[in-house]
This record gives sequence, C-alpha cells and structure tokens, in this order.
Amino acid sequence: MSSHTVNASIITIGDELLIGQTIDTNSAFIAQELNKIGIWVHRRLAVGDVYEDIRKALDEEGKQSGIIIITGGLGPTADDITKPLLCDYFGGKMVINEQVLAHIKYLFEKVYNRTGPMLESNLKQAEVPDTCEVLHNARGTAPGMWFKKQNTQTTLPSMGIEGSSVYISLPGVPHEMKGLMTDQVIPRLLKAFSLPAIVHRTAFTAGQGESLLAEILKPFETSLPRQIKLAYLPNYGMVKLRLTARGNNREELEKEATPYFEQLQLLVKDYLVSDEDEGLETVIGKLLKEKGLTMGTAESCTGGYIAHLITSIPGSSAYYKGSIISYANEIKTGILGVQPSTLASVGAVSEETVTEMVKGAIETLQVDIAVATSGIMGPDGGTPEKPVGTVWIAAGNKDKTATLQLKLRFDRQRNIDLAAVNALNFLRKFILANS
Ligand code: ATP
Repeated sequence: MSSHTVNASIITIGDELLIGQTIDTNSAFIAQELNKIGIWVHRRLAVGDVYEDIRKALDEEGKQSGIIIITGGLGPTADDITKPLLCDYFGGKMVINEQVLAHIKYLFEKVYNRTGPMLESNLKQAEVPDTCEVLHNARGTAPGMWFKKQNTQTTLPSMGIEGSSVYISLPGVPHEMKGLMTDQVIPRLLKAFSLPAIVHRTAFTAGQGESLLAEILKPFETSLPRQIKLAYLPNYGMVKLRLTARGNNREELEKEATPYFEQLQLLVKDYLVSDEDEGLETVIGKLLKEKGLTMGTAESCTGGYIAHLITSIPGSSAYYKGSIISYANEIKTGILGVQPSTLASVGAVSEETVTEMVKGAIETLQVDIAVATSGIMGPDGGTPEKPVGTVWIAAGNKDKTATLQLKLRFDRQRNIDLAAVNALNFLRKFILANS
C-alpha cells in the first residue's frame, strides 16, 4: 500500500474564540501532532456557537479534507449545539452510551467526590449519535466522537479511507483534547490512513536568532535532497532546527537523515544546546545530575521565573535547592550579603552586584553553583547609562564567577522571558567549562 498526502482541516468552535476571550491553542497543538505523523493541515478555522455556521464549516472542509478535527461545543450547557448537529449531519439518533455513562458516574463519585444525584445535564453527556465511534475521554466527561462520511470529491488528493472523510469531534478543554489526541486520535489515524514514513531529528539551539542561523545554514539547506526539509522553530531566545525526512521506508529514512543531521549539528555547534527536542532546563538538570552538583538561584529582575523553569522539570529536587528572590536592595544586602557600598557606587544593575549575588547565594543556599540576574525590565526605570533592557547575569561556583550583559529591547514580559533563557544558557556554558 503506497502512501499519499492526506489533508486535514481543524475547526474550533466557540463564541469566546471569535471575540478573543479564549486564545485558540487547541488547533496549534492538533496541527503539531498531525504534522509529526505526516498529515498536512491545510486549513484552520474558528466558528461561533451558531448552528448554520458550524454546518457550513463541516460542508466546506469535507469537500477538501480527508480528516476534519473539531474541538469545542460538547459541554452540558445550553449553548452547546454541536452534538445534536453532528447527529443531524451524520444521521442516526442520540443514544445513551453505557460506557460513557459509567465513566461519568465514576468521575463524579470517585474523582470529584460529589454526593447526591447527578444533574440531568451531566447525564446528557453520555448521549452520543449512534453513527459514531466513541473515543474514551479519560480526563473528563465529554467523550470524543469519530465519524465517517462518504466523500464525493474523489478526485481530490485529500481523499481519505476508501473515499471517505473522517470527522473527529473533541472537547474544547485543552488538557482533555490533548489526552484524546495522544491516546486515541493519533493511533487511530495511523491505522486508518496509509501515511508516509516520517523521521524528525531536532537540534536545540540558544543564543542566536533565526535569521543569523538561516544565513549560516543557507548552503546546507540548498544541499538537502527533496525528501528532507529543514524547519526553524523559534521560541524565546531559542531556535529548534528540525530536519524532517519523508518517504516510504522508515529505516531507510533514518539512515539517510543521519549524516545530514550530523552536518547540521556541526554547523551550529557554537549555539547547540541539545541534539534532542528538550529545553535548557532539562539539559541543565542532566548536566548537574551527571556531575553530582547542586544549584540555586538569586533572582532580581526575573522574579523567580528561572526557579519556575527549573522546578518544572520532574526530579529537579535532586539538584535544585532554592531561590532567593532579591527584588529589593535590602534583600540583596540583608540575605545575599551584597555590599551596600557596591549598590551605592555602581547600582543594583551592575556586574559587581550580580557577582556578589552569586557568592551570597552559594553561601546562603549551600549550593555548588548559582546563577543571578539583575536588570531593568521596563517600561520605566531606564536611564541614559542603563536603558530599559539592561540586564546583568552572573553564574559561578565557590572559586569563580563569570558575567554577561544583555541589552534587550522588548516589552516587559518578553524581556523577562529572554533574561531567564539567556541566564539558563549562560549557566549551562559555565557548568560545561568549569565542572
Ligand atoms: P466542556 O463541556 O467539558 O466544558 P466543551 O467541548 O463544551 O467542553 P467548550 O465549552 O467550547 O468545550 O470549552 C471548554 C473550555 O475549553 C473553555 O474554558 C474554553 O475557553 C476552552 N477552549 C475551548 N476551545 C478552545 C481552543 N480552541 N483553544 C483553547 N482553549 C479552548
């Protein structure tokens, strides 16, 4: 069975999406997951909770796509009209699904610890059109639904299974939708469609922008064979470089992609953080564990954000001891032991201050390594000598401290994000060079 391109459409439902109250993160996640298995998302659209609009969207997308994924509009509230609409659209009648009912009862009694009878509206969630296959939603009450419909546009390359399009309806709640995509939808799609074999190899870089990387990689990119593509996936001071090879045989693709991936890593070696799809905080955790070191943070301008990033990694307690958020000068002097004379002569945002903050953190937190930040994040507080965006970072151990100055030029939130990412990358380099 040879593989062919399968197009997908994503329809997100909800008035709140149209007025910008909810940001549509669902379709980004779904698109990424489909892209990973070689399904091409060629259209994403949002519609309100309006019967005719949803129906029109189903009609339109059904003409163009083998796979149509819908999220939202499955809740027990009165404005949720999607389920009855799907029943009209695919034919059949609404029936109670006993497994869904048992799951809803289980959630109410054992997980939500509710007593008393269930509401009629909750029981209604166990009703599904008898024309669908139910997709078990382990994380919530609204089940997913999988429908098939004959596709009359058989000439389209987007044609699905035996000339049918598949329609998948998922709840809007992001973590429920994600669970259903991973546990149910992706495995079923892999079985139902003969998709191309796909191999992804990701190099994680930090400290260099997308455009300069693109400049370095231009000749490499042009030298790639047709079936291997390079994607730049930038995210706050980091850029993921992803090679994707498509073909019919996975093993052959692996073999073919390897030398190109090695070449890619070599070309960006000065910025390479990892040859896997993992963030700086994961890489730092691995390094510290490997070397048997502990660390702490002394954060002024990042306000604990570095600590948050580090502790978002499971198992970080093995190497991370804690943070002193020394936002005020009296905390810098009182807890971290920064000299008042340093603050008076060169100010809080200075190389000297972050150096003393690192020393103080190593002593106070009793750690091997510490990182410190101090900066002016804006929008106010800048001076001609130290404009908004000036950040000092220090990383050190008991023998040595290294410093770095940043000149950021964004809004407050982005400046904080970038200061944290740069501090983590600086810390990573310090550990590599000094441990
Ligand atoms: P439930 O009945 O379990 O609430 P539902 O399928 O009816 O789920 P909605 O009522 O549309 O879904 O939305 C539920 C929640 O999910 C809301 O908080 C909404 O803001 C959020 N949500 C819905 N669609 C999206 C989306 N496309 N991206 C991100 N969040 C979404």
